[in-house]
Amino acid sequence: MKILVIGGGPAGATAGRLLAKDFDVTLIQDRDWDKPCGGGTKSKIFNEFQIPNDIIKHQLDYVLVRYKNEQIKIDLKGKNLSIVIREEFDKTLRNLAQKAGAKVIYGKFKGFENKKAIIKINNEKILFDFDILIAADGVNSSVRKAINLPPVPKIITHYARIDEYKVKTCEFFFDRKLGGDYYAWAFPHENKTHIGSVGENFKNLCDYLGINVKPKGYFIPTWQENIQMQKENIYFVGDAAGHVMPLSFEGIYYAIKSAEILANSIKNNLNYPNEWNKRFAKEFKFMKTLENIIKKPILRDLMIKAQKFNTIQNISVNLWLGKGFK
Ligand SMILES: Cc1cc2nc3c(=O)[nH]c(=O)nc-3n(C[C@H](O)[C@H](O)[C@H](O)COP(=O)(O)OP(=O)(O)OC[C@H]3O[C@@H](n4cnc5c(N)ncnc54)[C@H](O)[C@@H]3O)c2cc1C
Repeated sequence: MKILVIGGGPAGATAGRLLAKDFDVTLIQDRDWDKPCGGGTKSKIFNEFQIPNDIIKHQLDYVLVRYKNEQIKIDLKGKNLSIVIREEFDKTLRNLAQKAGAKVIYGKFKGFENKKAIIKINNEKILFDFDILIAADGVNSSVRKAINLPPVPKIITHYARIDEYKVKTCEFFFDRKLGGDYYAWAFPHENKTHIGSVGENFKNLCDYLGINVKPKGYFIPTWQENIQMQKENIYFVGDAAGHVMPLSFEGIYYAIKSAEILANSIKNNLNYPNEWNKRFAKEFKFMKTLENIIKKPILRDLMIKAQKFNTIQNISVNLWLGKGFK
């Protein structure tokens, strides 16, 4: 069986890797680049997926929440948060896919012709045959467009990598002025800091940090129930399926996990949307509810200040670690 994967980020590279032992897999990636991302991911992903951990730039056992002139230290119960640089991380995942037997080709998906995928490689249009196509082409999925599915719901983020504000760990800013309905962040990135905000508050974040930088913009999915994950023999994973955790906006881990669920579903002839829902729908819906609660100023105040209490903090960290949802 021929499987064509479009997009070699965390989702596509993992799907390609996990399926290559059993099927004829070709993975199409348009370029090597540093995908806009804070690069923060659960450390457990490295063991779970045998990803070499020498590409981890920082391993963190606490984060800081900044809110209304207060600083709350959140103990992560061990070095459970890792920071990667996406260019290197994604390339490593694609190399693992290649080692597992996937053909990795640099080219760009352009649409369909006679049920074949049109891939542009060095200005040449080549048609690729497939039995299954995996769309792992990110938040702006061109496969979704090509088959007339609505785009995944999304919101703009603004970000920059800077020298001026140094951090030892990930900092989250929850003041509405800085993070709007969501939050703003400053993550250590080797000798630099990756700062950003969800929505339109980047200028306020810069003013608050006392810096002046021009941001870049990129979309991030805002997950909702019932985003279509499959149409006939075309399957969507990661951002292309909207699989970013509400409230935390974590996408790397969930892109890799959705690829694993899809690979198992294909191998064992299971219904992928059902399998994804069985594993994650409850967790995503719960976090969506919290995301909605935190939009309300009084409840935001309560929820964030409650993190000062050990019992509440423990519950939050356990939730983040995915405990209690399996
Ligand atoms: C500013 C910002 C900060 C973020 N910070 C974090 C964070 O700290 N932690 C976290 O967990 N998540 C974070 N996220 C979310 C995370 O980056 C994504 O959820 C994650 O990258 C999804 O992986 P993916 O493989 O589904 O998609 P992507 O990583 O987007 O990979 C898709 C790949 O497909 C390729 N592609 C696209 N179109 C085509 C085409 N037509 N043909 C061929 N190839 C194509 C792209 O080049 C890309 O490499 C952040 C997002 C943003 C925008």
